Amino acid sequence: MLGQMMSQPLLISSLITHAERFHNAGQIHSVNTGGGMEETTWGQVGRNARALASALGKLGLAAQTRCGTIAWNNRRHLEIYFGVSGGGYVCHTINPRLFPEQLVYILNHAEDKVLFIDATFVPLVAAIRDKLEHLEHIVLMEADVGDAAEKLPGIIAYDDLIATGDAGFDWSDMDEHTASSLCYTSGTTGNPKGVLYSHRSTVLHSFGSNLADSIGMTARDVVLMVVPMFHVNAWGAPYASAMVGARIVLPGPGLDGASLVGLIDTYKVTVALGVPTIWLGLLGAAKAASSALTSLNRTVVGGSACPPSMISTFREEYDVEVIHAWGMTEMSPLGSVNQPLAKHADLPLEQQHTLRESQGRPVYGVDLEIWDDEGNPLPHDGKAQGDLVTRGQWILDSYFRATRDETLTNGWFDTGDVATMDGDGYVTIRDRSKDIIKSGGEWISSVELENIAIAHPKLADAAVIGAKHEKWDERPVLIAVNGPGETPSEEEILSIFEGKIAKWQVPDKVVWTDELPRNATGKVLKRTLRESFGDVLLG
Ligand code: ADP
Repeated sequence: MLGQMMSQPLLISSLITHAERFHNAGQIHSVNTGGGMEETTWGQVGRNARALASALGKLGLAAQTRCGTIAWNNRRHLEIYFGVSGGGYVCHTINPRLFPEQLVYILNHAEDKVLFIDATFVPLVAAIRDKLEHLEHIVLMEADVGDAAEKLPGIIAYDDLIATGDAGFDWSDMDEHTASSLCYTSGTTGNPKGVLYSHRSTVLHSFGSNLADSIGMTARDVVLMVVPMFHVNAWGAPYASAMVGARIVLPGPGLDGASLVGLIDTYKVTVALGVPTIWLGLLGAAKAASSALTSLNRTVVGGSACPPSMISTFREEYDVEVIHAWGMTEMSPLGSVNQPLAKHADLPLEQQHTLRESQGRPVYGVDLEIWDDEGNPLPHDGKAQGDLVTRGQWILDSYFRATRDETLTNGWFDTGDVATMDGDGYVTIRDRSKDIIKSGGEWISSVELENIAIAHPKLADAAVIGAKHEKWDERPVLIAVNGPGETPSEEEILSIFEGKIAKWQVPDKVVWTDELPRNATGKVLKRTLRESFGDVLLG
């Protein structure tokens, strides 16, 4: 016997329809690429998204055509998210910080026919235009094309394009499993791989993200999306915000600490999402501007391990709760979120604080397990560490243009992270499997050493790699970036590890550099560091 309930497909258009109908006047504050603010509403975003879907149809695009974006976080990008997917096309967000060859690879692999770009990226696209095999239309995300046509002949203005569409367009009806959007991993090893999300996975991910024990956005929140809309769909925040009608602030190209502090204070932002490096800049700027970040009550930090010192600075100096989250492109990206359990309320405060440092527990919809080398589950005792594997409602089944067999192992996706899990499901990421330091048969977590080193008052940044060692195979080496005007000795730096870890885990050496190399999503390029410093311990 089947249940006798309505069956409505889980479509991205249903999110914007809800925001339009019930949060019509809900505000969206957007920083323009050329500077200045633009104010709009969920209602207007919805109407423009419909007009865009209709205009794309008039261009004669076939269903499922990939439409790329190379753009900042702004209101037109938001309209494109909903208009492209809602119209039955695939919204393919592209990271502008990739190397030009990678951009060409991705655009050709995805077969993008339409490309929406912000004015900043006109030179970037002009330089590779000839190599883009499938591209038919370039749309400048501005009111008019200005002088962009000199560099990109045939470019059309976004506002002119949507003027050809119908703002009353009825969203296309489709199977909820239809592809909605596409993101490529940043490809730190090999070519980038595509992850093709569906309407269903995106809507379910929004529910998961909006659980109170997760990020939990509400209609009372003002959400600052610092995480770029080209980085795993801004962690799904545009969809989750539409689902609840949250007010949003889109920072455009200004991601420096001072601009972000200004936006938080002006728009009374309650929740902000971003990677740890961004918050380092923000904390410095808040101090310089003597801002108390009064409105902010939580920040969602993920993408790389959040150093415990950052969590305590936010808590102690700004009364802001850090929600440490872990995930990846292949997981839409939400995997685990650090929220406490009821039983933790009775623990001494210090212990409660320590518990907030890990990457948290799986959200409903995501299953996590740790495996040994043979794929056998390891105990959840907070000690045994192994390969972190996942499956779930918004986890990829196969990479774009690859098979399930190439992607999964016995129905699970191997995240490439090494982790421990405790009896309550709290996961601690010890390392990327290729970054973990194997010293004489023992494993040393580079993340753990970095978390300690970064709190050194004389260091601005720090990374730890496994350097080759004649006796131990690998030994940790600390790559240090001094703070402004500081010149600490090796001894001074290494003293910070005293009493915090076993002696044999303390790095063998400190080497200095001016800046850590980072990939397009802000992650430290350990491979590059290993190439530069991997031999420093050899005779
Ligand atoms: P890519 O894999 O292309 O670099 P992702 O943005 O998908 O890009 O990165 C996912 C990876 O980032 C995870 O597998 C993990 O190694 C790392 N990561 C994400 N969040 C955290 C976190 N909170 N703590 C530690 N590592 C994290």
